[in-house]
Amino acid sequence: VAKRLEKFKTTIFTQMSMLANKYGAINLGQGFPNFDGPEFVKEAAIQGIKDGKNQYARGPGVPDLSLAIADRFKKDTGLTVDPEEEVTVTTGCTEAIAATMLGLINPGDEVVLFAPFYDSYEATLSMAGAKIKCITLRPPDFAVPIEELRSTISKSTRAILINTPHNPTGKMFTREELNIIASLCIENDVLAFADEVYDKLSFDMDHISIASLPRMFERTVTMNSLGKTFSLTGWKVGWAIAPPHLTWGLRQAHSFLTFATCTPMQWATAAALRAPDSYYLELKRDYMAKREILVDGLRAVGFKVFPSSGTYFVIVDHTPFGLENDVEFCEYLIKEVGVVAIPTSVFYLNPGDGKTLVRFTFCKDEETIRAAVERMKGRL
Ligand code: GLN
Repeated sequence: VAKRLEKFKTTIFTQMSMLANKYGAINLGQGFPNFDGPEFVKEAAIQGIKDGKNQYARGPGVPDLSLAIADRFKKDTGLTVDPEEEVTVTTGCTEAIAATMLGLINPGDEVVLFAPFYDSYEATLSMAGAKIKCITLRPPDFAVPIEELRSTISKSTRAILINTPHNPTGKMFTREELNIIASLCIENDVLAFADEVYDKLSFDMDHISIASLPRMFERTVTMNSLGKTFSLTGWKVGWAIAPPHLTWGLRQAHSFLTFATCTPMQWATAAALRAPDSYYLELKRDYMAKREILVDGLRAVGFKVFPSSGTYFVIVDHTPFGLENDVEFCEYLIKEVGVVAIPTSVFYLNPGDGKTLVRFTFCKDEETIRAAVERMKGRL
């Protein structure tokens, strides 16, 4: 394996899902729904295939989808973007992240991440040869340590990555935090990379795109995808919205990473994004009910549960059960209890961090969540 990837192992999500299968454990680890997305979206994909939408798409995206993305973005943020010049369709948000890093970051550039962070950020930054500067968000509220951020950002900082709602903590960045991050970006001429794939799963406050703050659109790449919002994580359709000078860089990377994304799925994604408001409301309502079942259940089991305002994840402190660290706890949980969670230490740069915390997901049907809670009640 190339040196730039030497330190990375099989992703924790793959590892944990493999163990879930091996031990027949209930998988509250990897974030994928155990129910399917809406019929009308699946129908649109089938129709697309039947209608012969099967050859390479326009590289930056099927025009109808670019338009649907621009319309959705306008509804969500009030910003008008040019679908031709400012929207790029990618193979999942994961490719949008990779294309952004590879297309806009030079070797040696500093990029700020908030730990815990989603594992692909570090790997793609390593591929780009970037230097990672890490700011740790700490429980109970995972607030941004403003002074630390201020002293970390300097003239060598190229970008700061904001993931809101935040995986794995469920934190949502507040308007105050985003305003401060924005003013630091502007003062120091820093780009903002915003991973907003959980934006439609915001429960306790309104989601704010940093691109919508004054003078930020011109320095922001906003990334999103179909997977979480439409419970179709396997479709791998994502996108990046950015002004033309940033779009140029990320499109260059996209051209040579995947060239174009699966054509019929793009047509179907356009149909999905035109779903009525009621779809989004229902999604939120369903997930809030699931969150309540899981959070109440975890409390009853005896965990200390940290509040999750968005995403389909919740973080708990496992220390009441006396296991050495998060990895050992998760192993015990799989083998002796039959439930899978994700150890959070893998989401940090510092080896000592995250050892007391594990992540559970509630993107499963209610019966599955309840069954997992019952297993834990009996055996923890
Ligand atoms: N985003 C999903 C999670 O955090 C996992 C995606 C993946 O397996 N790479 O669980």
